[in-house]
Amino acid sequence: MIPLDEAQAHVRSRCPSPVVESVPLAGALGLVLAEDVVSAEDVPPFANTAMDGFAVRAGDTAGAPVCLAVVGTVAAGAAPDVAVGEGEAVRIMTGAPMPPGADAVVMVERTRVLDDGAGEQVEVEVEVPVGNHVRQAGEDLLAGQVVLAAGILLVPGRIGVLASVNRSEVRAFRRPRVGVVSTGDELVADGSSLAPGQIRDSNRPGLLALVAESGFTPVDLGLVPDREDAIEAVLRDGVAGCDAVLTTGGVSMGDFDYVKVVLDRIGDMRWMQVAIRPAKPLAFGTVDGVPVFGLPGNPVSSMVSFELFARPALRAMAGHADVERRRIRAVAATAMPRRPDGKTHFARVVLDEFDGAVRVSSSGGQGSHQLTAMAGADGLAVLPDGDGVAAGDQVEVLLLR
Ligand code: AMP
Ligand code: MG
Repeated sequence: MIPLDEAQAHVRSRCPSPVVESVPLAGALGLVLAEDVVSAEDVPPFANTAMDGFAVRAGDTAGAPVCLAVVGTVAAGAAPDVAVGEGEAVRIMTGAPMPPGADAVVMVERTRVLDDGAGEQVEVEVEVPVGNHVRQAGEDLLAGQVVLAAGILLVPGRIGVLASVNRSEVRAFRRPRVGVVSTGDELVADGSSLAPGQIRDSNRPGLLALVAESGFTPVDLGLVPDREDAIEAVLRDGVAGCDAVLTTGGVSMGDFDYVKVVLDRIGDMRWMQVAIRPAKPLAFGTVDGVPVFGLPGNPVSSMVSFELFARPALRAMAGHADVERRRIRAVAATAMPRRPDGKTHFARVVLDEFDGAVRVSSSGGQGSHQLTAMAGADGLAVLPDGDGVAAGDQVEVLLLR
């Protein structure tokens, strides 16, 4: 058996570097920016009002209440066609440019319009300072400023910022396309009733969902039987159209474990027995330069293996600097016993908070075939080789969400 960190390092060292491409803004959410974006213009591009109200000269409001002559209106999206002179005001809508001469805005709620027949007047109830409710040009971003630096994650607010500086495309690291294939003669995926010995294919839908949730593009490569020719065909197809391929099943010690046989023949493969439980066997290699992860077949093992090996490597391929899930320390709410076996165990656990401390407890049956406990898990408690932890002991937890 080899230690987990050695297996992880091997996988990472064999995965290709991130690829940079131009991406339309609409498809950039969740990607890592690969360029420094510099604003070509001020945001906002002109001084405008933050309120509906009246644009005035602040000095005219001294000693309020005061009456000003209303000399025009500026709507959002319009250019002002009138200036504000002494004793004058212009009706103005949120977002509209400040008219020349005005240096403050009085919100409509603090005004009263009067019309005595001799032209519209506005009574201003409050004295306002220069700049009142005015959003100055460049107050958010200045032309020439680095708006977002390479390496940053494109979250929704940053997509908006990019749009605000007129970027419809950005250079970003490509979102890996990840193919997923299930292997096994016992598997059924067409909804038909189960013949003796058959089970349903749960790995492929689960892994496709993990791929999507991780921000990569899932590609369903289907279900193939335990036959070398079928496995080879799907792998060749997969590496032709994907940046990485995940297989499940066929990498253990059984007589029909052909995934590692095929990977050995057509790829540059290393078969590893990693000192962890679950997910001990891992076949990892490249076929035509494309990484192929031969994940174990047991449903929990396939997901844990994805978490420990595939997800960090794929995140690195997507340009992320932080590739690991967050780890925290928590208190074991109940004992989590185990036996010494030279392996690190990853127990499926739920978290709660009690008396200000984060506690962990088992999320259910811990067999590698018992997917429900994985489904309900908030994290994986890391149990080092030994006898496990007692209730009240500190335990490290790898967070799954
Ligand atoms: P294997 O690694 O092919 O020996 O499979 C190990 C165990 O996982 C066996 O009990 C398989 O039936 C089960 N298994 C393999 N692939 C899947 C799958 N796609 N969905 C659910 N169980 C699976
Ligand atoms: Mg099998």
